[in-house]
Amino acid sequence: MFDYLIVGAGFAGSVLAERLANGHGKSVLICDKRNHIGGNAFDFYNDDGILIHKYGPHIFHTNSADVFDYLSQFTEWRDYQHRVLADVDGMLVPIPINLNTINKLYGLNLNAHELKDFFENVREKREPVKTSEDVVINAVGKELYEKFFKNYTQKQWGLDPSELDASVTARVPTRTNRDDRYFTDSFQAMPKHGYTRMFEKMLDNPKIKVMLNCDYREIAQELSYREMIYTGPVDAFFDYRYGKLPYRSLEFRHETRDTPVVQEAPVVNYPNGQPYTRITEFKYLTGQEHQKSAIVYEYPKAEGDPYYPIPRPENAELYSKYKALADARKDVHFVGRLATYKYYNMDQIVAQALTVYGKIVGLKRKEAGMVRMPTVSVAYAGGASNGGANGNPNGNGRSVPNNPANGNGRNTANAVS
Ligand code: FAD
Ligand code: UDP
Repeated sequence: MFDYLIVGAGFAGSVLAERLANGHGKSVLICDKRNHIGGNAFDFYNDDGILIHKYGPHIFHTNSADVFDYLSQFTEWRDYQHRVLADVDGMLVPIPINLNTINKLYGLNLNAHELKDFFENVREKREPVKTSEDVVINAVGKELYEKFFKNYTQKQWGLDPSELDASVTARVPTRTNRDDRYFTDSFQAMPKHGYTRMFEKMLDNPKIKVMLNCDYREIAQELSYREMIYTGPVDAFFDYRYGKLPYRSLEFRHETRDTPVVQEAPVVNYPNGQPYTRITEFKYLTGQEHQKSAIVYEYPKAEGDPYYPIPRPENAELYSKYKALADARKDVHFVGRLATYKYYNMDQIVAQALTVYGKIVGLKRKEAGMVRMPTVSVAYAGGASNGGANGNPNGNGRSVPNNPANGNGRNTANAVS
């Protein structure tokens, strides 16, 4: 008899497995239908020995000290600030749109003050700002919207930006200074030895059994367990009772090139004229040195593995029906990007999983990530905090800069600035 059956070994499932076993002494069976742990964040060394992300680039960033400290128990970090160029009008220019972008694109020499006036002239005020089209046109006007956002979004989602919630393009801010970083979160870093190594450490406990290549439906009837944590697609759990929830898929085309550097930036976006949305060169992300270099192209697709919930009103309405079914299942906790149908980043999933764990054991989220088994923690009183379990000194007590990630459905990772 297991205390928990956890479906899915991505961030949501692995955080909960780790917490329930290490924090609460529970026995856990975690299964995944894929042949590896880590979910979409899985990385591995390819045939040439280059560390790559199987499911596209995963860059860790958060404003939550709790989340960062929690994960720091399982990995060291490599400082990394992400930068992206966009291929527009035959030039490579920085995105998010900033002072350098506009000056290069239009051959100008504006300062930040003048750029504000520039945007003021070209923007078209939208009120209320409801769609992804509104967000961009309201900030920078139609021309820049068409150069950078319209076609990329159409390609990525198979929808016009006017058919998507504002939250989608609001992930990418507009700036009047020269800050060309993709994210401005307080914590930006990559797991020093990769995500998979971090997941291995999270799941390294005799109370956690991992079963791969295993759809939970193949074992759920045969097993006895007290409760289930489900992190797969919520509509599949309920046999599509109300119809399919739309998810957007991608095809990843990986290549290794016989040259140390392929492109000028970690990611180059192709808004126009190509069937793919972006190319990522992994060595920028991982810091690995190698005489060859590995890249991945992303081709959006309607069918295939469900990668992106699609934020738009009719989907939210359909999801709310599934949520009502999920809420009624007191024996199953629905956690993660697919099970709660939210376009969440990794840190938000960690926060959400810690919140669910806190609810299960009656702790606040801040405490939920840092406490080992309650009985054991008494023995630690006055000694080292578990926040330092892997050589990381920052256990507790750090003030939270900016806006912490949270598990409550708000997208705090990268607000428009
Ligand atoms: P998942 O990682 O999807 O894990 C769910 C697991 O459940 C899967 O492994 C699946 O195989 C398993 N499963 C489903 N059904 C079953 C079943 N019936 N039986 C058994 N197992 C099952 N976030 C960032 O913070 N930064 C980024 O740069 C970033 N880049 C991204 C790029 C791409 C292309 C994508 C698609 C996502 C990106 N994300 C990024 C988001 C990030 O991947 C997610 O937030 C995170 O991986 C979600 O974790 P999860 O555990 O909820 O889901
Ligand atoms: N986007 C765009 N052009 C770009 C970058 C982003 O139109 O050059 C839009 C697009 O709709 C995309 C969304 O902004 O899906 C969010 O971008 P982000 O880079 O956060 O996407 P993710 O990494 O989640 O795929």
